[in-house]
Amino acid sequence: MVKVFEGVLSRAQTPFINESLIDFSKAENQRAQSQAIEQVKSELGRTYPLIIGDKKITSKDTFASVNPAQPDQVVGYFSRATAEQVNEAVQVAATTFETWKRVPAQERAGYLFAAADVMRQRRFYINAWMIYEVGKSWVEADADTAEAIDFLEFYAREMIRLADEQPIVHIAGEENKLVYIPLGVGAVIPPWNFPCAIMVGMTSASFVAGNTVILKPASTSPAIAAQFMRILEEVGLPSGVVNFLTGSGSVIGDTLVDHPQLRFIAFTGSRDVGLRIYERASKHQKGQRWLKRSILEMGGKDGIVVDETADLDSAADGIVASAFGFQGQKCSAGSRAIIVDQVYDQVLQKVVEKTKQLTVGDPTQPTTYMGPVVDENAMKKILDYIEIGKHEGRLVAGGGHQGPGYFIEPTVFADVDPHARIAQEEIFGPVLAVIKAKDFDDALNIANDTEYGLTGAVYSRDPQRIERAKEEYHVGNLYFNRKCTGALVGVHPFGGFNMSGTDSKAGGKDYLLLFTQAKAISAKKQPAQGPTPPERWQGE
Ligand code: NDP
Repeated sequence: MVKVFEGVLSRAQTPFINESLIDFSKAENQRAQSQAIEQVKSELGRTYPLIIGDKKITSKDTFASVNPAQPDQVVGYFSRATAEQVNEAVQVAATTFETWKRVPAQERAGYLFAAADVMRQRRFYINAWMIYEVGKSWVEADADTAEAIDFLEFYAREMIRLADEQPIVHIAGEENKLVYIPLGVGAVIPPWNFPCAIMVGMTSASFVAGNTVILKPASTSPAIAAQFMRILEEVGLPSGVVNFLTGSGSVIGDTLVDHPQLRFIAFTGSRDVGLRIYERASKHQKGQRWLKRSILEMGGKDGIVVDETADLDSAADGIVASAFGFQGQKCSAGSRAIIVDQVYDQVLQKVVEKTKQLTVGDPTQPTTYMGPVVDENAMKKILDYIEIGKHEGRLVAGGGHQGPGYFIEPTVFADVDPHARIAQEEIFGPVLAVIKAKDFDDALNIANDTEYGLTGAVYSRDPQRIERAKEEYHVGNLYFNRKCTGALVGVHPFGGFNMSGTDSKAGGKDYLLLFTQAKAISAKKQPAQGPTPPERWQGE
């Protein structure tokens, strides 16, 4: 077992620095990644248990997670949790909460630092699991692992900061302080698209704050979550702090979300599932003693605005990277390019040329830029949208797909109406809608005219327009003269407005507050110590 508590405070005092990405142009890194891919290949097809407290339970009823590049290759078999097991896991988490909440913050943070260290040692290995399980390219998989390490490092430091003395106004005659205490048992329900980073981020934020967790990973990426559970066990995290339930969200999700002993839900995923959780969590259940807190991070329909003053090559690069990185399966993906009339044709031509150069293929190969989309359902849904797009716009690149893996060409539709379905609905695949705007004002209006508000970018050299967009472009993460994907922990606290979620900021200084509640503690000083202060009432 790794010793987790040595030097936690001194480590927490060192500044947080984002993990640098692996340089795959170096032969030794290529070799290391290839070896890890071989290693993981030899481990595919194993069966993984549910983890409830100190029990590992493999049920007869399992489902397979498969390699989307080669769907007959099983990545792993996972047990389908039953409603009874959901109840048991919540019960175990509730019991464990009574001890875990008393563990000092410094000690809790120590587990995150220790897990970060193990992830660094296993960097290529964890990348390889993502390459197999969700079809990430090497670069995308590595960025995902780096982000997971960043979350661990960042939230460990944040918890120690929150556990320290908090700034409040002092008055004579009283001792006052504010402490952040945990909430209780939380359900952590991550998506598959950042199967390491988001899963690790939401889980670690929950338990470092003193809560206990039921982690229900996405059914298309449970193997990566199982690797994290292994790490938590190795660093000695007490059993019952994070419980691991696999199975379809549509089958066990409601039982989990509705449970009266559940205190909060941390969810990242689609708009529709997010709305369902929001509604159900707001309903009081018999025996429930609190209002459940929902931390929901949902979809996006992110836009990139380009005006006539912009560096057009750089804009086209940013549009293509934002639209097609990880096959367009990012909540931050730039799925709308909104270009002013004056430079529309030029930018469109550049975008099409650059799109046609992208390589689609087996993600175990280092030269692949785009792998498959995550599963057959996703592929069918995206292909349906491509058919819709053929009636709503002019197909200027891609549109096709190849099997047997779930490969879809990077696809560009030009001349799309801002209210067309492919310009409004989240497709979550490699499909870009290019929209012509009359001028910058029109472009900004179009950019804001969706129900989402996650990320956005503006390419312009006009300082006044940039200032206007800062005020008026209503998204949680706004970028200028760069792509709208690739938020870094601590640097770009991440999360959106409107239907993109509950306005939280993952990787920001406010994030852990969502997993805690603040308690004000006041004690009257003894009379000998000075005059009694005048009584003041606040809102009572
Ligand atoms: P889904 O909403 O389909 O699934 C997300 C998670 O919810 C999965 O673990 C899923 O389990 C679970 N789930 C499904 N149904 C229920 C239910 N009824 N009750 C409880 N849980 C349930 O999203 P995807 O996994 O497909 O992820 C893609 C979506 O995530 C996109 O919309 C994307 O924009 C969004 N996203 C948002 C981010 C943000 O920061 N705002 C970041 C990343 C992604 P199962 O897999 O078993 O169905």
